[in-house]
Amino acid sequence: MNLLLDSHLTAFRDEVRSFLQQHLPASLRLGQYQTASVYPEPKITGPWQQALQRQGWLVPLWPKEWGGTGWTPIQRFIFETECALAGAPLVHPMGVRLVGPVILKFGTDEQKQHYLPRILSSQDYWCQGFSEPGAGSDLASLKLRAESDEENYVLNGSKIWTTNAHHANRMFALVRTSNEGRRQDGISFLVIDMQSPGVTVRPIRTIGGDHELNEVFFDNVRVPRSNLIGQENRGWDCAKYLLEFERGAGIFSPRLRSQLKRVGDALSERIADGMALGVDLPVRFGEITADLDTFEMLELKVLGSLSPGETPGPLSSVLKLRASRMKQAVAELGIEVLGSESMRWHAGSSRLEDDERAVPALVQDYLNSRAFTIFGGASEIQLGIIAKTVVGL
Ligand SMILES: Cc1cc2nc3c(=O)[nH]c(=O)nc-3n(C[C@H](O)[C@H](O)[C@H](O)COP(=O)(O)OP(=O)(O)OC[C@H]3O[C@@H](n4cnc5c(N)ncnc54)[C@H](O)[C@@H]3O)c2cc1C
Repeated sequence: MNLLLDSHLTAFRDEVRSFLQQHLPASLRLGQYQTASVYPEPKITGPWQQALQRQGWLVPLWPKEWGGTGWTPIQRFIFETECALAGAPLVHPMGVRLVGPVILKFGTDEQKQHYLPRILSSQDYWCQGFSEPGAGSDLASLKLRAESDEENYVLNGSKIWTTNAHHANRMFALVRTSNEGRRQDGISFLVIDMQSPGVTVRPIRTIGGDHELNEVFFDNVRVPRSNLIGQENRGWDCAKYLLEFERGAGIFSPRLRSQLKRVGDALSERIADGMALGVDLPVRFGEITADLDTFEMLELKVLGSLSPGETPGPLSSVLKLRASRMKQAVAELGIEVLGSESMRWHAGSSRLEDDERAVPALVQDYLNSRAFTIFGGASEIQLGIIAKTVVGL
């Protein structure tokens, strides 16, 4: 979509373009290009986040005194669009977009001074310990026990589906500190040092063959009481606030657009080569393009109604639901257009060593895209939220 940009926004877009030309090396573009799992590995996100931080652009949603840019939502959209067009790596959201805002809202001054600079410098790499066996959609049923003495909480239990726990040195986690009253009222939000004695991380291979997910076990793990964020037994407030950022603070359409463009280019090449593709694929390409145009307009409308730093509230669920379904539709079309050629890149190859001509991991991307309608809250859960809070049923 062509936004009608005034001179101020055109100058901003040009500034972003020139930054990307100067600071985005081919190796990082290639790393993102060939990433089929949800986020690139730390060896790709780390240097990119440091470059953004040097420029003062890493945490647009944070308040200015903590490094925020003060950008309007439309400036954020322009920034994301230019990053997608240039093929820049995705920023790893766990510190910057998830726990950072929670610490800013619920943390003590001491916690802010300690953790926020370490997020900005990428010194800490975070993972999210919410889901447990038996507590995914029904998160409030979580059981990881945290019993407290004067100085520590002592943790016993496990978490599951923990993205990149094997890279992380910190986890933010929801733990059970009480069994009294409503289930939500006995949950607390803790920061855990992943190097603590008693923490064990075990890999789970995804359907696409990647090691991205993990189980994490806690066996008498001692966590200082000073690692509690917010009040004891009020962790549910932190969780709800964080989930709004997880579902709604991202800008999805620019990345979907560049992925769809790649599929469109491949489709045009095949038609030009005289391949007999039938009409179904071009028609589906047209339908997805129209859907994406509508989604982009919705995203812009929602963004346009927000003040700097604000998230879209319950509308996050509408954006998350639409974006995840479209991600799957684009990945599926890509596989069908490329046919057997989509198998060329395989999981074992070493990403950064491959050359620019390598095709992205389309099969893995397709397989991993199945997870988009599950993580961050499954589609059925988003539909329930939309029914209650947006439609008012
Ligand atoms: C790739 C990936 C990465 C993830 N990363 C993390 C992470 O880093 N940290 C973390 O904590 N978790 C993570 N998760 C876990 C994710 O949040 C959960 O998988 C998700 O919340 C669903 O929970 P569940 O798997 O227990 O499924 P369940 O909750 O058991 O749901 C199973 C099915 O039942 C449906 N269902 C459940 N309840 C209802 C209802 N009330 N109404 C209608 N339908 C319902 C669901 O929609 C789903 O289709 C990740 C998951 C994936 C796939």
